[in-house]
Amino acid sequence: MPKKGRVFSGARPTGRQHLGNYLGAIRNYIALQDEYDCVYCVVDLHALTTLEDTGRLREWTGEMVLDWLAAGMRPEETIIFVQSHVPQVTELHTIFSMITPLGWLTRLPTFKEKVRQQPDNVNYGLVGYPVLMAADIAIYKADTVPVGVDQAPHLEFTRELVRRFNGLFGPVLVEPQAKHTEFTRVLGIDGKAKMSKSLDNHIELASTPEEIWERVRMMVTDPARRYRTDPGHPEVCNVFTLHGYFSAQEVAQIEVDCRSAAIGCVECKKRFARNLADYLAPFRERRAQYAADPSYVWDVLADGARRANAIASQVIAEVKAAVGLP
Ligand code: SF4
Repeated sequence: MPKKGRVFSGARPTGRQHLGNYLGAIRNYIALQDEYDCVYCVVDLHALTTLEDTGRLREWTGEMVLDWLAAGMRPEETIIFVQSHVPQVTELHTIFSMITPLGWLTRLPTFKEKVRQQPDNVNYGLVGYPVLMAADIAIYKADTVPVGVDQAPHLEFTRELVRRFNGLFGPVLVEPQAKHTEFTRVLGIDGKAKMSKSLDNHIELASTPEEIWERVRMMVTDPARRYRTDPGHPEVCNVFTLHGYFSAQEVAQIEVDCRSAAIGCVECKKRFARNLADYLAPFRERRAQYAADPSYVWDVLADGARRANAIASQVIAEVKAAVGLP
């Protein structure tokens, strides 16, 4: 089947992935492979903008890519690589930075948010982050970028920058289109904040059934349900929300049983933990298989870098010629 076009997406190296990463992004990445040629990048350079734990970037990259592969990424079709292994992107970033009005960058809501988050480290790279992101997409002539509501302004920025480049130097680069995708926002086991490793409210995909139960056991449920005999309100309970993804066959009955207090929260959590562990069993098996060969993931990334390099070399040559660099 001919593919519809080329998708690009990048993710910061964050180590072992959790349910929030899976439902929010990874499952979309996997599904897109059926229709598009996909280029998925571990954006290690972007991770430097915060300069946190840089000594662990290698470990986090390896763990994250292991999870991607175990979840169903197909490296024989999809290009999976590390951003810094294909340095042409930094050349395009430099060229882009010469045609980017500073006002375009400082007005972006994400920049303002970052300044609030790290007021003591408002570095040059942080301001130019969207320029590097635009270069990430443009260097592979990706025509499709999956975006959720949050990332829409960044893609718009890329489109604007590509139009500007093409207007100044000729129609060399491809203006990417947004593929609006539902990036599910998953709450953590606290039932309040978005699931994240830094808040330690996550459930890792690689967890064993025992580890899953340890985390699920702690999940906050309907706060109004104080006694086993109190009827519950599944619509406010994160266990119920997650049942919707991993217990499709019994979720309707759970809703009825929760509202009538026919089921208690402990039993409900046990069922969820069991269903989740079953769902993730093939994932765990594949992950263990890949992890048994420590060089496997790096071989995949080396091959991805080689293929990404072939595209990027050609595009950067076209860019330099168009700009007039001698
Ligand atoms: S029974 Fe299940 S869905 Fe209902 S409140 Fe308890 S954990 Fe949530």
